[in-house]
Amino acid sequence: MFPQIRWRIAISYFILVTVVMAGLAAFLSRPGCLGDAICVRKGVSITAVLLLTSSSLIAYPLADQTTRPLRKLTQIMRRITAGEWEARMLPLTRDEMGELVLTFNDMIDQLRQQHLALLEENGQINTVLNYMADGVLITDGEGQVRLINPAASKLFSLTEKAALSHTFAEVVRHHQLIDLWQQCQTEGQEVTAAVEIGRDLFLQAIITPFQEGWAAGYLVILQDLTTVRHLQTVRRDFISNVSHELRTPLASLRVIIETLQDNAYDDPETAVRFLNRAESEVDVLTQMVEELLELSRIESGQVPLRLQATAVADLLLVPMDRLKPQAERANVQLILDLPGALPTVLADPTRIHQVVSNLLHNAIKFTPEGGQITLQAHADTENQEIIISVHDTGMGIAKEDVGRIFERFYKSDRARTRSGGGTGLGLAISRHIVQAHNGRIWVASKEHKGSSFFFSLPTASPDGP
Ligand code: ADP
Repeated sequence: MFPQIRWRIAISYFILVTVVMAGLAAFLSRPGCLGDAICVRKGVSITAVLLLTSSSLIAYPLADQTTRPLRKLTQIMRRITAGEWEARMLPLTRDEMGELVLTFNDMIDQLRQQHLALLEENGQINTVLNYMADGVLITDGEGQVRLINPAASKLFSLTEKAALSHTFAEVVRHHQLIDLWQQCQTEGQEVTAAVEIGRDLFLQAIITPFQEGWAAGYLVILQDLTTVRHLQTVRRDFISNVSHELRTPLASLRVIIETLQDNAYDDPETAVRFLNRAESEVDVLTQMVEELLELSRIESGQVPLRLQATAVADLLLVPMDRLKPQAERANVQLILDLPGALPTVLADPTRIHQVVSNLLHNAIKFTPEGGQITLQAHADTENQEIIISVHDTGMGIAKEDVGRIFERFYKSDRARTRSGGGTGLGLAISRHIVQAHNGRIWVASKEHKGSSFFFSLPTASPDGP
């Protein structure tokens, strides 16, 4: 009936005062009362008492009724503060309180939307930071770490929590990075540098000062360039290796040509000898170029495998027959040890022939006369693969060379001095071929006792490839 609180209070008091005043007027209008000072005083006193009592009686329920929505609103605010964003209050009255409740609900709706938008934005930033490969750190102006992403935590072997309670210097513990941060602080502009941490971590550090509103600090980005640097080293080594390998036969050819030019061709016997030597040097060059091309084709995936379920015997007998004459010439015994029932393997026969030939060829090359070479195969049922191995009783491989012989161009010193040494590419090619078959290749060797080369091939599933 009275939508505004102020009107409700004013009218209640107006009625109260009017009624009491009417009562006082009636009291005073009694015969003889107006002329009697005691009667008037009595009337005024009664009126005052009545006014006081009744206004108190009206004030309490009025105040209670007026503040009830406020109390409810306080409760709702507490629930929202505790994260219960859905908590709402329905406007119970259509007065100022009702209006306050409606405005409050609108405000909470807007705040909630802003909160959700912030959460989403925050979530996106966190996802980027969490999944990015680069390390990211933010420090304040004094160098206290304010943010660190998982990649950076991993780089410095620290948990996020531990990092946040420390300074940049304590977190990175690396003088070059600390100097770089200080340089950025002094110059007030972005600084970049390549930093080597330990022996095998190579970082590109970019430190940028920022001023966002009231917040100022430094953004540190750490890019792990170890792989890139490793690739650069491999490429550099590769070029120097190729040049080195080409230089030897080319130098030989030059000597042969110069000798022939110096009239050696006048003596047919010498000329033939020199021409034969020239031919074998050209063979070495041709083999190297062919192997290099082969390696490059395999590495770039240009040699598609024609995988098929193949009997293990078919993979071993062809290279065995191919290399038998060579083994006989070198006077080493070639033995095949193949169990009867082996599961078929998923392989490209031509490529695996190449691997087995290469292993046998090396075994013959590095086994002295009277030695023995055994070609074996057995099933590893647990891993569902077949292990093929070549054992020899040859010179073996020095401990320091064992980990490197599958690298391109790697040859042990003794292999280099051995006549008829190869290009150092055979094992690198074999490793690529085996890995392309989802297999592994490894070696076990003891110097002066012999070497055993192993590689695995997955067995073909019973349903066929
Ligand atoms: P290469 O053409 O020189 O044989 P590989 O890549 O096939 O090139 O072999 C690399 C090096 O590994 C060889 O130079 C040799 O030092 C070593 N090696 C390979 N097989 C054997 C083996 N059966 N016995 C001893 N050393 C071996």
